[in-house]
Amino acid sequence: MAAPKNDFAVAELLVSKRQATRIRAGHPWVYSNEVDTRVTPLKDFAPGEPVLIMDPHRRFLGTGYVNPNALICARLVARNADESLNEDLLTARFKAALSLRRRLFRADYYRLVYGEADGLPGLVVDRYGETLVLQISTAGMERVADAIVRSLQEVVRPSCIFFRNDVASRTLEGLETYTRTAVGDLPDMLRVEENDAVFEVSPVLGQKTGWFYDQRMNRAAVTKYCRDASVLDLFSYVGGFGIQVALAGAKDVVCVDSSQTAVDAVGTNARLNQVSDRVYAEKANVFDVLTAFKAERRHFDVVIVDPPAFIKRKKDVPAGIAGYRRLNKLAQQVLGPDGVFLTASCSHHLKREVLLAQVIKASEGGDRRLQLLEQGHQGPDHPIGPAMPESDYLKSFTFRVERR
Ligand code: SAH
Repeated sequence: MAAPKNDFAVAELLVSKRQATRIRAGHPWVYSNEVDTRVTPLKDFAPGEPVLIMDPHRRFLGTGYVNPNALICARLVARNADESLNEDLLTARFKAALSLRRRLFRADYYRLVYGEADGLPGLVVDRYGETLVLQISTAGMERVADAIVRSLQEVVRPSCIFFRNDVASRTLEGLETYTRTAVGDLPDMLRVEENDAVFEVSPVLGQKTGWFYDQRMNRAAVTKYCRDASVLDLFSYVGGFGIQVALAGAKDVVCVDSSQTAVDAVGTNARLNQVSDRVYAEKANVFDVLTAFKAERRHFDVVIVDPPAFIKRKKDVPAGIAGYRRLNKLAQQVLGPDGVFLTASCSHHLKREVLLAQVIKASEGGDRRLQLLEQGHQGPDHPIGPAMPESDYLKSFTFRVERR
C-alpha cells in the first residue's frame, strides 16, 4: 500500500525488513532495535505519540503509537491508513469485543478487552457487572484515557469505571502508577459470577483487577474429579478453584495462599456459597506447607497448583523452570495413591511442552504412573492473536497420578 496522505502531520517510523515481515504476518509490536534510527530517530518522538509505521521502502504497514523509551517502542493499532487510535476506533473495537463476550457468557462477568488480541494494545478491561476495572500499560493508551472512558460509557453504559493503573509494567513506559474512579462510585466489593459460584472481590486490595477470569474453564473442568474428594488448592487467591470444587461436592478443601487478604476473602466467599463447613484457608508459603504435609504423610485426592508467573522476563527462564519443577515434584508427593493433579502456569515465557516436561521430570525416579487427562488454556474472553505468541500465556495439565 502506498503511503497515505499525511494530512495530520503524523510522523513516520521506518522499521527493518525483518520487522516489516513480522508486522505483515500479524504481529503488532516494533522493537527499538528494529527501527531505522538514521532516518527516523526515536528521540524525535514523544511517549505515546501517534505514528505511521512504514517498511524500509516507505510502504505503509499500519498506524500505531510510539514510546521512544521502551524496548517495545511502537505498537500497531490499525492496518488501514484512515484509522488511528481515537474515539471512533475505540468505540468500534469495544463493540466488537462486547459482541464476542455476549456470545460467550450469559452474565456480565468477564474480560471485556484483552489488549492486543482485541486490537487495543496496552488496555485491559475487566467487567464486574455494572463496574468496569481498567488497566492501561502503555503511554499511547494513556494519552487516550479520557476517550476510553467516554467510549465505554457509550458502548457499555456501566455505572462505574475504575482505573487500576498500579501495574508495575507502567514504569517501563515511564508512566506513574495510580488508581482513580473515573465514573460513578466504586463499590467496596465487586461481585463475580462464574460457572455455578459467586464471589466477592475487592477492586482496591485485590490482585490485578480483582479476579482472574482466565481460569474459568479450567475451574469448571476440574470439578468432575472432586466429588467426595479431599482437595488441596495451592496459590488459591480468594478461592477461585477451591470454592467451586467444594460446591461440586468435594468433601474437604484446603486453600493455601501467602496473602492474608486473599485468605480472609476465601472465608467470605466460602460463606457466600454456603460451603464454609468444607473449605479451610491457611496463610502460608506453599513450599513450606508442602514440605510439612510430606513430613506428616498427609495426602489429598486432588491437588491444584496455580502459581503466580515465576518467569516474568526472558532472563528468568532457567531459574523459573527449576522453580516449576520443584513445585510440581513437591505437589505430587502429597497426592494419595490414585490422585488427580492439575498444574498450571501463566508465564508466557514458559512453553506448554516445557511445563509438561517439568511435570514428567518431577515424577521420575518415583513409583508413579501418570496419565494426561486434560489440557487447558486461558478462556475465550482472553483471545489469542494467532501471530502473537505472547498473547498465549496460560496452560494447564490435568493428570491422574497412580502410585504403584
Ligand atoms: N488460583 C487463583 C489465582 C492464583 S494467583 C485463582 O484461581 O484465582 C497467585 C496467588 O499466589 C496469589 O494470590 C499470591 O498471593 C499467591 N502466592 C504467591 N507466592 C506464594 C507462595 N510462595 N506461597 C503461597 N502463595 C503464594
